[in-house]
Amino acid sequence: MMCEKCWGDAYGGGYFDGCETQTERYHQLLDERAANPCSPEEQAGQYWDPVKQVDTRAREPQEGDDDSA
Ligand SMILES: [Zn+2]
Repeated sequence: MMCEKCWGDAYGGGYFDGCETQTERYHQLLDERAANPCSPEEQAGQYWDPVKQVDTRAREPQEGDDDSA
């Protein structure tokens, strides 16, 4: 799953710090931070649910979610 914090840092205002693309810089940042990775909250970024303390991107479908019935 994409780390929102590293992805945002990789963009850096459109300057990828020597890398060709944001994706390349993003992977470079992940390598740099491998020993000290971002917290789940930082990785989830805007997808963090502060109430349930979960990354909503990783959330499994739950009973009651399906309103198509
Ligand atoms: Zn990160």
